[in-house]
Amino acid sequence: MENFTYQNPTKLIFGQGQVQEQLADQLGALGKNVMVVYGGGSIKKNGLYDEVMGILNDNGFTVHELAGVEPNPRVDTVRKGIEKARSNQVNALLAVGGGSVIDAVKAMAAGVKYDGDVWDLVTKKAKPEAALPFGTILTLAATGSEMNSGSVITNWETHEKYGWGSPLVFPAFSILDPGNTLSVPKDQTIYGVVDMMTHVLEQYFHPQDNTPLQERMCEAVLRTVIDEAPGLVNNLEDLQKRETVLYSGTIALNGTLQMGTRGDWASHNIEHAVSAVYDIPHAGGLAILFPQWMRHHKKLGQKKLVQLAERVWGITPAGKSDAELAEEGIQRLEEFWQNLGAPARLADYDIDDSRLEDMADKAMINGPFGNFNKLEKDDVLAILRASL
Ligand code: NAP
Ligand code: FE
Repeated sequence: MENFTYQNPTKLIFGQGQVQEQLADQLGALGKNVMVVYGGGSIKKNGLYDEVMGILNDNGFTVHELAGVEPNPRVDTVRKGIEKARSNQVNALLAVGGGSVIDAVKAMAAGVKYDGDVWDLVTKKAKPEAALPFGTILTLAATGSEMNSGSVITNWETHEKYGWGSPLVFPAFSILDPGNTLSVPKDQTIYGVVDMMTHVLEQYFHPQDNTPLQERMCEAVLRTVIDEAPGLVNNLEDLQKRETVLYSGTIALNGTLQMGTRGDWASHNIEHAVSAVYDIPHAGGLAILFPQWMRHHKKLGQKKLVQLAERVWGITPAGKSDAELAEEGIQRLEEFWQNLGAPARLADYDIDDSRLEDMADKAMINGPFGNFNKLEKDDVLAILRASL
């Protein structure tokens, strides 16, 4: 493995009733003049908005609000948030929502303290040097954004979507009550499961040697989600399964699995290019692209693919070649996602071959990418074509 230093400053507060119990103290430690940021209204329907506002009003906070953060959050909305936070001189932010709301708040937190346009931070033209502190109340198990320093922002005018990050934008605290995820609809529950599984898989396919514990930890998260997700999708009210899946999503991308290794992340990069052009759900794109990334690496990744087939899917190797085992493992993953209800082809989103070049160019913007294997434009085009 590689040398590493691990530090994750986010205080993770997990369990039922924890918003009531801890929000006022945790947010109060960051500031009393706050801006609450949320999405398109799910928190108003499920009662969380009233609960949060009640707590903040009862505890003497001055509260400003920014509503309407869209899935695949847009830089325009981030700019609005920055303006509002500045004009009200807020000293802390609170994200209440899924990964999109949290990612937008990360950009607002750094953007408030940056003199130029926040898009410079997303495109890495400038590096954040300070950020407002913020906490989160997570409502959807998926991205891991609640306990990492990454953020993904879309510029809809230029059709660009990029991930960026900074140690300055780890949430100060994140409150995860599985009860707050009970209202997540079936499609978003499925997307969340696919997203967290691809996060693990991206990290599983790393180029480092001698990483037996890292690999076993990845396999443990995958097997847990594979055991729990079908039951959850059939019964969205199952609080115990909600709890396990919520915890899995955080572990999948809070740095735990990536110590001493460098995950691949090429499929995420290609997906960002696809959803920058077509605005499809992040994990819908991943369910289509990741198996094709695997097929593209059947030779180079054969050893890992065989290990995945045997250890995660429990496929018995007797009488099968390594190439057959690798392919069987990929097929089991595809079947698992499709049986849950995830899309299988870009055509499911009415995406045809007319803008493949455009998507490949967007994915290539910073040159060849991927840590397990560096992809050139021809590789990206091949993966996109195989996904049609
Ligand atoms: P999301 O985009 O935050 O939310 C998807 C939908 O679910 C929204 O319509 C939202 O509605 C709804 N929703 C959320 N919580 C709900 C609840 N409790 N009940 C009912 N509906 C609920 O989904 P996400 O998958 O968490 O985030 C996706 C974004 O994160 C993408 O932009 C992706 O690129 C990015 N991402 C970030 C990271 C990272 O590490 N930072 C990693 C992977 C992906 P409302 O808007 O009404 O709330
Ligand atoms: Fe993701």
